[in-house]
Amino acid sequence: MGLPAKRRTKQSKRERAAHFALKAATLSVCQKCKHPVRPHRVCQNCGYYKGRDVLKLASKDARKTKRKQRKEKKSE
Ligand SMILES: [Zn+2]
Repeated sequence: MGLPAKRRTKQSKRERAAHFALKAATLSVCQKCKHPVRPHRVCQNCGYYKGRDVLKLASKDARKTKRKQRKEKKSE
């Protein structure tokens, strides 16, 4: 393992760390649901990107509820 050749001063450590702060993500608005979304990414709220349903979240939800209903029927 490499060892530091010289001790790093408090000042040089702090000067380096001055750039570590995270910047707030820039957000745009979803065309369909007006939810804030990161640019060039699929909307996590409704699954839309560039005017089409990419994730098909609605059908996924429908499938989940169907599965739940089936499980409930079996347990009865
Ligand atoms: Zn959306």
